[in-house]
Amino acid sequence: MTRCKKQFEFSEKENAKIRGFIKDPVGDKKAEIESGILQKYKGRLLVMASDKCAVQCRFCFRKNMQKKSIQNLPEKLHKILKKDKSIKEVILSGGDPLMLSNSKLQAFFNAIPKPLKIRIHSRIATALPSRFTPALQRLLKQLGNRLIFVAHVNHPDELNKKSEKIFLCLSKNGATLLNQSVLLKDINNNAKILAELSEKLFSQRVLPYYLHQLDRAKGVAHFEVPIKEAKEIFKELKETLPGYLVPRFVKEVKGKKSKVWISTF
Ligand code: SF4
Repeated sequence: MTRCKKQFEFSEKENAKIRGFIKDPVGDKKAEIESGILQKYKGRLLVMASDKCAVQCRFCFRKNMQKKSIQNLPEKLHKILKKDKSIKEVILSGGDPLMLSNSKLQAFFNAIPKPLKIRIHSRIATALPSRFTPALQRLLKQLGNRLIFVAHVNHPDELNKKSEKIFLCLSKNGATLLNQSVLLKDINNNAKILAELSEKLFSQRVLPYYLHQLDRAKGVAHFEVPIKEAKEIFKELKETLPGYLVPRFVKEVKGKKSKVWISTF
């Protein structure tokens, strides 16, 4: 099995109970202000828009969360946005929001007034490129530069001609393209692989944004890179690439008002 594919392969190790690895490692439940709508950070709301994904990532921090589709979520979101003028950006997450039907997606877009930014976290560019139909392209095009598209690519082998075409189209239509990765044992815990990933993303118009230290969800311990090793890898990555190709190395800590940047000094 290639390194890249290991992120989707089930392992018996997922059943091991390991101290410190819990159901909700990033405090999603506590941050919920309405069923399916979370506020962790100032000025931003996160919406669990979809309960479906194009792939099942075995290291996912939401793997133990109860998946449910919530009725009237766009309407609920709209009500909150009408009242709370401090919100500048809505993050559509899940699951993968692009697994929704086009009409459901349109309902979300209608619920988010201009000039609020709309951030979409999606894996379809690499996991399900056929979802990027002409109709979906037109739907996303209407957002222009309000759209921030955050891909989730962990290994350079995930990128190919199909993803390149999708990113090119999104970029031509005005979207900002970013990538977030998770540092994963036996998959990308190597500065050379991460450097290649950054270079390849850039060649497809995507900027590396975050490299996450693994969130400690129940059943994912076998993917964790020990923090000492992680820092060494990131230090080498920084010394290899120009600054604009180096992602921010971060960790999400329950209850914190922003992501925590991991220092390698
Ligand atoms: S696509 Fe995202 S939400 Fe879905 S399993 Fe993978 S990491 Fe988790």
